[in-house]
Amino acid sequence: MTQKQLDKQQMVTDLDVKDIQLYVNGKFVDAESSKTFENLNPFTNEVINQIAEGDQADIDKAVTAADKAFKGPWGKMKVSERLEFINKIADVIDEHVEEIAPLESYDTGLPISQTKKMVARAAKNFRFYAEMVSSRMVGEAYQVDDEFINYTIHKPIGVAGLITPWNAPFMLETWKIAPALATGNTVVLKPAEWSPLTANKLAELIDSVGLPEGVFNVVHGFGETAGASLVANPDVKLISFTGETKTGSEITKNGADTLKRYSMELGGKSPIIVFDDADFERALDACTWGIFSFNGERCTANSRLFLHESIYDEFVERLKERVDNIVVGDPLDEETQVGPLIHPTHFNNVKRYLEIAKEEGADIVSGNVPASMKQGNFVAPTMILNVTNDKTVAQEEVFGPVLTVMKFKEEEEVIALANDVEYGLAGYVWTKDIQRGHRVAQAVDSGMLWINSQNVRDLRIPFGGSKSSGIGREGGHYAFDFYTEHQVIHVALKDHHIPQFGKKKN
Ligand code: NAD
Repeated sequence: MTQKQLDKQQMVTDLDVKDIQLYVNGKFVDAESSKTFENLNPFTNEVINQIAEGDQADIDKAVTAADKAFKGPWGKMKVSERLEFINKIADVIDEHVEEIAPLESYDTGLPISQTKKMVARAAKNFRFYAEMVSSRMVGEAYQVDDEFINYTIHKPIGVAGLITPWNAPFMLETWKIAPALATGNTVVLKPAEWSPLTANKLAELIDSVGLPEGVFNVVHGFGETAGASLVANPDVKLISFTGETKTGSEITKNGADTLKRYSMELGGKSPIIVFDDADFERALDACTWGIFSFNGERCTANSRLFLHESIYDEFVERLKERVDNIVVGDPLDEETQVGPLIHPTHFNNVKRYLEIAKEEGADIVSGNVPASMKQGNFVAPTMILNVTNDKTVAQEEVFGPVLTVMKFKEEEEVIALANDVEYGLAGYVWTKDIQRGHRVAQAVDSGMLWINSQNVRDLRIPFGGSKSSGIGREGGHYAFDFYTEHQVIHVALKDHHIPQFGKKKN
């Protein structure tokens, strides 16, 4: 064994991964049914550990605990004290970044150089919402002459059900937990079944800061059982969901009887449009990073590339070089740029899309997976050429390191192509013509669009998608609209006219 392999083996030993329990009412407990399920390592497909398999009984227990905490200590706590807890959670995450990032990579196959940045973002989510709630969660006052003053306040809603995916688990969980708790709700988190390790770590960290019991709960388990029970529980007043579009629609149907509010952050098939006057090298960097980072398992990935015909050949040639040189490897290796996909089922889905692309007449150009890595769920970085926007691989979300490359001639034509898709999450436009940049950006139907930029996040902006990519916005103060109730208080300042129904006339 080389020294590098020995170091990585030591890193895994140091992670000291044990079997995982649920976190309910401030205690780590087995599932009521005592059932467990296996968690796999995407790099080897060996079993990492056993996870307690929560179902309706556990969800109901967690929701009862969360409801009690909401009506009790958490609901009665002063905001400043509550926000101290939120800042403490940020501190303990920061203190454990070196431990959480490898755990995330080990569990998901995401390269460690990338999980380190995601984990740092997780702590920022808490700090940001502590700050936002203290400075920006303000009401409005509406003066009506000298007769009335009407004012609004924000009130937390109650038990928030948070359902999260496996593609950036720790960061996405905190993206929801931070505003939910900071605004005064209590939480039941149902993390994705393929990535439970860092959700458990988060439960340990949050437990260590001493929140009142029941404020934060984690119930591991499958979507169809644990997830569905959370959606069906009448005491859960809101569901924030991130995941596939078809799951989002299933959740909306299943929750209809208990009338809740939903935030839906769903799938994407985002276009990147490169005009002939674009900064070629920067567009190439951004396009390559935007599809192959996070193993291509990224909701905002630029999975459809539209190149102006005059730069098509050169851009494709240069992309081929990049694809050939991308370092595919062990997610725990700092040099790795693309790691294995999360799970054999997902690996088979992505491979199936490549087969369909071939059957539909496209050409496939793939990079390399080292021969020694064949035991993991590796898909080489891939470009699909000779394809049109109506083909399956250009229309459906592949969610892997697969870029569909197409050509255009006119601005109008590329706008129509960019919009000819079910999704509308993100988009990217590259041009030095400032007028065209804005014009095209505004014409693309997407929740978010970057001009001459890779996907750089600004926590203050509204995050979310249009069309089948989502409903509602989280992020910045927009999260207050979802996680709080706006209550209006009407106050009469003097005696005003009140109709006197039923009063006898003198
Ligand atoms: P998924 O929909 O399969 O699962 C997401 C979560 O939903 C998991 O926790 C799962 O257990 C749960 N779930 C499944 N069925 C359920 C049901 N019937 N009731 C309640 N819960 C249920 O998604 P995934 O495969 O984990 O994640 C990948 C998807 O997430 C992609 O489509 C990606 O684009 C999307 N995503 C979107 C964003 C965004 O912000 N728009 C961000 C990240 C990922």
